[in-house]
Amino acid sequence: TFGATAATGYEIDEHAATQARWEEASKATIKKTTKPCPHCHVPVEKNGGCMHMKCPRPQCRFEWCWNCGLAWNRTCMGDHWFD
Ligand SMILES: [Zn+2]
Ligand SMILES: [Zn+2]
Repeated sequence: TFGATAATGYEIDEHAATQARWEEASKATIKKTTKPCPHCHVPVEKNGGCMHMKCPRPQCRFEWCWNCGLAWNRTCMGDHWFD
């Protein structure tokens, strides 16, 4: 009979699959909510629906647009400050 062995194997596979899905999901979330600062490349978390990004590093403090990946400017402020 392969009852117990198969069940254990299935559980391990299921666990690994769940873990893999969870890791993929969390990677996707990080990708979606952080972008590297265009100036110093430190990952910066997006603040809600606002496109105006500011680098948290005191040595940098670069302000840029999440949408364009460029320095924050008047066009960004007018066109897509918020989602
Ligand atoms: Zn920076
Ligand atoms: Zn922009």
